[in-house]
Amino acid sequence: MSEALQHDIVIVGGGGAGLRAAIAVAELDPTLSVAVVSKVYPMRSHTVAAEGGAAAVIKDNDSLDAHCYDTISGSDWLADQDAVELFVREAPKELIQLEHWGCPWNREPDGHVAVRPFGGMNIERTWFAADKTGFHMLHTLFQTLLKYDEVVRYDEWFATKLLVEDGRCQGVAAIELRTGQVRCIAAKAVILSTGGAGRIFPFTTNGAIKTGDGMALAYRAGVPLKDMEFVQYHPTGLPGTGILITEAARSEGGVLLNKHGERYLSNYDLGEALDVHDPKHPQMRSMELGPRDRLSQAFVKEHEKGNTIDSPFGDVVHLDIRHLGEKKINKLLPFVRELAKNYAGIDPVHEPIPVRPVVHYMMGGIHTDVDTATPLPGLYAVGECACISINGANRLGSNSLTKLLVFGARAGKAAAQYVGGCGAISVAAIQSQAVDEQARITALLNKPDGSERIVSLRTDMYHAMESGAGIFRDESSLKRTCETLAEVRGRLRNIQLDDRSNCFNTELIAALELENMIDIANAVAHSALARTESRGSHQRTDFPDRDDANFLKHSMAYRTDEGPPRLEYLDVVITRWPPAERTYGAKPVETAGE
Ligand SMILES: Cc1cc2nc3c(=O)[nH]c(=O)nc-3n(C[C@H](O)[C@H](O)[C@H](O)COP(=O)(O)OP(=O)(O)OC[C@H]3O[C@@H](n4cnc5c(N)ncnc54)[C@H](O)[C@@H]3O)c2cc1C
Repeated sequence: MSEALQHDIVIVGGGGAGLRAAIAVAELDPTLSVAVVSKVYPMRSHTVAAEGGAAAVIKDNDSLDAHCYDTISGSDWLADQDAVELFVREAPKELIQLEHWGCPWNREPDGHVAVRPFGGMNIERTWFAADKTGFHMLHTLFQTLLKYDEVVRYDEWFATKLLVEDGRCQGVAAIELRTGQVRCIAAKAVILSTGGAGRIFPFTTNGAIKTGDGMALAYRAGVPLKDMEFVQYHPTGLPGTGILITEAARSEGGVLLNKHGERYLSNYDLGEALDVHDPKHPQMRSMELGPRDRLSQAFVKEHEKGNTIDSPFGDVVHLDIRHLGEKKINKLLPFVRELAKNYAGIDPVHEPIPVRPVVHYMMGGIHTDVDTATPLPGLYAVGECACISINGANRLGSNSLTKLLVFGARAGKAAAQYVGGCGAISVAAIQSQAVDEQARITALLNKPDGSERIVSLRTDMYHAMESGAGIFRDESSLKRTCETLAEVRGRLRNIQLDDRSNCFNTELIAALELENMIDIANAVAHSALARTESRGSHQRTDFPDRDDANFLKHSMAYRTDEGPPRLEYLDVVITRWPPAERTYGAKPVETAGE
């Protein structure tokens, strides 16, 4: 094996979180050498697909406390309030910083930054760049990163293992996809920013690369995965493909209609209907702008009542934006029009868009503190792969993009400070671990007699997750899911690959991603089985109520080599907002300390 590559900090992930962290290190200490490892070219990271916008308080009629309250009540009180307060405070600075680096935020006629309303937010506070916000943000970060020569990129390298020695994370093993060789990348600190894991479900808005790799790497290294049972369904995906129709379509005035043409959300305790012709939207957090968990659950109920519409790809409802008119649609929702035309064959200027709930986001992830540090010294995690937690049981739309920036910057700073005092790394020892990793992968490639295929294992995992761990779950559905996943995990040992080449072996990568996804799916299903209450996106039909007495706690799943994960619980941090009922369409409850 070639010699170990050496850096001070290695960042695995070239999406919004990873690039923001890299810039933070470079700005803080230009003498540090930073590596950014990404399995795809960074601009292909999922952040590029984000559409609707990024939340931060900027207007005089808004307040930091209001953003905190919306986020905490949206999380069904499972978010850590110290983390939320910090996030909300830092958010405006980060978005202004992005502006200075060149992000083209939409403007009002007088030149001020424009904001739009978003689901579960009580006031307009979502900054946007038309409906291609993630695209512009990622470009801005990528171009800014190019200024810093001390940042070395390893594009199209696939990390397979964290290298841990003396109780410290000291690097990663990664396959250079062009040559198929495993390399040891030694570093004093590792930041994981590998994104989410929506691909453990068959129907998702997530790009094919969102296979939870970083979560699985940390999990295997003994770091707990937190709150994995909380999986967000977005209420408006295109049937068939799962392509997202952004919440911005509703925030600009789009309405959801059942097969009778009724705005059915008025029957689901989500407040009064907005007047879609009132440009000021006097009442936020209501009806179509309710939180995603409630809207997705309402779809299932509507389906049970027989009020949804048959389509070749399952039942749908209609998202109607026709009343906005062609000019406004072209100006504010051009991508929605493009997607609906190309992938649903309809022009939303003239016809309603068929939509259904679709897996969108993992609230759970690698357990970290507010400085993004995991319990494993030298290992940090940030972005969608991490659970800090500001999202609790349900994330509010547009908080994620901001989270990448706020905590990406913190991760860079925390890792830079850590490497200043952590001592030398044991290069020889971790190089030898990378040699073992090369042997494991070579053996997988050359296995002569496997009987299992990637596609059949993946299909079984999909079916187990969709049928038993979806929008509504119960004990028997989750037990069935856990049993199937245990069986799939066993069958994984018998996997057979056909492609033995070393150059861009996509079959090998798919096998490694499958291994990661099965670990993640297990953590999701077992955490969901153990949480015998309903909260946010985790709805148990056998335990329909929230149970603060027993479950105002984070689930912490620790991997075991055989069998289910070991589960522990950690108290939620409450600062100023004691648990209360979630109300929508009404003014928020007064908060202590305001
Ligand atoms: C369609 C869509 C629209 C969205 N719209 C919004 C929105 O409007 N507002 C909002 O707030 N949120 C939105 N979200 C959520 C938000 O975009 C994501 O949570 C966020 O972009 C994730 O960023 P990230 O940096 O954590 O990861 P990603 O952008 O997913 O990047 C992950 C990186 O990790 C790398 N990687 C992964 N595994 C490996 C490995 N094994 N080895 C090496 N590299 C690896 C990848 O190459 C990639 O560079 C949206 C999500 C989707 C799917």
